[in-house]
Amino acid sequence: MSVELDWENLGFEYRKLPFRYIAYYKDGKWDSGHLTEDGTLHISESSPALHYGQQAFEGLKAYRTKDGSVQLFRPDQNAERLQRTADRLLMPQVPTETFVEACKSVVKANEAYVPPYGSGGTLYLRPLLIGVGDIIGVKPAEEYIFTVFAMPVGNYFKGGLAPTNFVVSEDFDRAAPYGTGAAKVGGNYAASLLPGEKAHGAGFSDVIYLDPATHTKIEEVGSANFFGITKDNEFVTPLSPSILPSITKYSLLQLAEERLGLKPVEGDVPIDDLDRFIEAGACGTAAVISPIGGIFYKDKLHVFYSETEVGPLTKRLYDELVGIQFGDIEAPEGWIVKVD
Ligand SMILES: *Cc1c(COP(=O)(O)O)cnc(C)c1O
Repeated sequence: MSVELDWENLGFEYRKLPFRYIAYYKDGKWDSGHLTEDGTLHISESSPALHYGQQAFEGLKAYRTKDGSVQLFRPDQNAERLQRTADRLLMPQVPTETFVEACKSVVKANEAYVPPYGSGGTLYLRPLLIGVGDIIGVKPAEEYIFTVFAMPVGNYFKGGLAPTNFVVSEDFDRAAPYGTGAAKVGGNYAASLLPGEKAHGAGFSDVIYLDPATHTKIEEVGSANFFGITKDNEFVTPLSPSILPSITKYSLLQLAEERLGLKPVEGDVPIDDLDRFIEAGACGTAAVISPIGGIFYKDKLHVFYSETEVGPLTKRLYDELVGIQFGDIEAPEGWIVKVD
């Protein structure tokens, strides 16, 4: 079966596909989970996910390769991150095998919606873990739903990689120093909506957040991690307990070293010392890499490589990672999981 969609022009929009996976946790254990055609969740009005934010999500993609098969990129890493998030919010872990099998089953059931190779599109998977049930006091839920749904999404950069300008948030933080910044939870996103809207209104593509304790070091973008490449060939990313550990970022750190011969560095990135970088970017599953043209901070725009052209090392890293994800370039061991 195949469906006809305008594959070249998919955006990032919800589309209700035929199937999603759902599992229920009750009496201390997960049920066996199943695929369903029901795209609506039926939960108690008192669910802790709704009142106290006891919820978490993940995001990963399925890729159509040249030979027509479909594959996932490092889904075990998403499973492990969801487990760490679950620990932080006192939710039950979803075992890695359950997580990966759920993702595979959703891709298989909706295979006709995996965009064709060469269109740049992918099938985006959204795993979601929420505390539900009849509890209104501030305490962890006793029942949980784990669901995985999917939708086809387009290539973020239709006309090729293009830099955009970002703005430093001087008035708002997305997370507290030892809060939930490292957990993939909706609350961090709720906190970033207002600064995000202000940034967009001022013509910037996104917000750069500084470390919430001192506001002197770059932490990350609202939904992507930051990296910079120095004149002396270092690939630098910030290290902090309030950054969400991006799987794309850790993949790039490894590729930067193994395939480009750069020195991978995780450390402080002072906002007053941007001159050391000749290129910079934001990275995450959605866009892979968004080259950063310039960063606006204290009434000045600091431009890295160029406001209009992507830097050569950023481009090479992007091509390497995307090539691996679509199966055109050999992957480091364990990075690719075939769906079939
Ligand atoms: C999901 C997310 C990222 C990107 O992580 P990837 O695993 O690379 O997709 C970065 N920052 C935040 C805040 C996120 O929620």
